[in-house]
Amino acid sequence: MRLEASEADEAFRAMVRAYFATEYPQEILAKLANGQVLEKADLVASERAMSAKGWLAPGWPEAYGGTGWTVSQRFIFDEELERAGAPNVSPMGLLYVAPVIYTFGTQAQKDRWLGDILASRTFWAQGYSEPDSGSDLASLRTRAVREGDHYVVDGVKTWTSNGHYADWIFCLVRTSDEGKKQAGITFLCIDMATPGIEVRPIITIDGGHHLNTVTFTGVRVPVENRIGDEGLGWTYARHLLNHERTSYAHVAGKRRQLQALRQAAAQAPWGDELAAVSGLRRRTAETEIQLLALEMTTLRALAPLTNGEAPGDEASIIKIAATETAQAVTERGLELAGPYAQPFFADRSGAGWRDGLEDIPAFAAPTTASYFFTRAQTIYGGTTEIQKNIIARQLGL
Ligand SMILES: Cc1cc2nc3c(=O)[nH]c(=O)nc-3n(C[C@H](O)[C@H](O)[C@H](O)COP(=O)(O)OP(=O)(O)OC[C@H]3O[C@@H](n4cnc5c(N)ncnc54)[C@H](O)[C@@H]3O)c2cc1C
Repeated sequence: MRLEASEADEAFRAMVRAYFATEYPQEILAKLANGQVLEKADLVASERAMSAKGWLAPGWPEAYGGTGWTVSQRFIFDEELERAGAPNVSPMGLLYVAPVIYTFGTQAQKDRWLGDILASRTFWAQGYSEPDSGSDLASLRTRAVREGDHYVVDGVKTWTSNGHYADWIFCLVRTSDEGKKQAGITFLCIDMATPGIEVRPIITIDGGHHLNTVTFTGVRVPVENRIGDEGLGWTYARHLLNHERTSYAHVAGKRRQLQALRQAAAQAPWGDELAAVSGLRRRTAETEIQLLALEMTTLRALAPLTNGEAPGDEASIIKIAATETAQAVTERGLELAGPYAQPFFADRSGAGWRDGLEDIPAFAAPTTASYFFTRAQTIYGGTTEIQKNIIARQLGL
């Protein structure tokens, strides 16, 4: 693995950096810099801007609209996006279901769904977890019964991220109770506008509405919305999860957060003193080292992959490293903010959300919400314990 950037890579970096500094919608960068929470319209505007440039799906094979960039160019692009402070793409369509569609879908399915995802015309959600099926996902009970050229779906999916924004949801459903429980699972794409679907919000500990419970009652889904064969959904789901788990790295975003903390520590009147007495400076350095290790591990795992290929079970190593580092970064933020982290602001939607809070340093105001929400990272996408089980199995332990 070569780590020095070539001249071509440096030129590429300069081009991408210039794009985010000028062409990309600056109002979205300003909202995030102001600590605001983005809404669906912002996410769509961000994705449409990158789509117009042809840069929305660097990981896809070129034949379906990928950029044809090398692995290092893709890494540089992600770095520059996060360095600029732009939001990551909403992953459910672009990063999770699209690779399943272009790998296992029919031509009609590719024509129907990939173009809309690539143009950010549709928003997707992931319907895997159920109230009694999380880690033990194969125990899921949402049932799809075949009636002619439709499946009739009944059941409950939960913890559905951005389900309230979604036009489509990809679901694992049970089509058989015969044999191993994995063997009776099928992968269906369901139009959220179909009668019988109810979406109810779950408010998380950070005060935000990210999650939902989605109930299906007699929902009729055309058989043509099934990916691949009936009963092979588990295979497609695993393929998708390895894409998902690799996507958590976000190295440059974490680096940006750490740099902002270092700056805040230098400016805060109590920063130096706190760093000296509490060991915060040492722990920040340790977190930076943790981040470097994540960066190297991610590069090592991605380097051998050609365009659009699925990562293997090493995705579980990246998932643990990425999410634990993310949590360490927010812990450093909380430590530096000290008592200023105590006030909690659930509504950060408006530009003036910090009015009247001038006594609280800008970096400190969202630290508690960010700390709380980042706890979820070692849960979603498969918990850390589950990733460790996968790694142990791979090692034959
Ligand atoms: C913020 C957030 C967003 C999410 N978004 C989505 C989404 O969009 N779509 C979706 O389908 N799901 C989503 N999830 C659900 C997520 O995938 C599950 O919460 C996760 O898989 C864990 O399942 P569970 O909550 O049922 O916990 P459980 O499976 O009940 O686990 C409870 C505890 O037991 C441990 N445990 C369980 N089994 C084992 C084992 N075999 N070995 C060792 N330890 C074990 C777990 O590690 C955990 O600590 C989201 C969750 C969160 C928190």
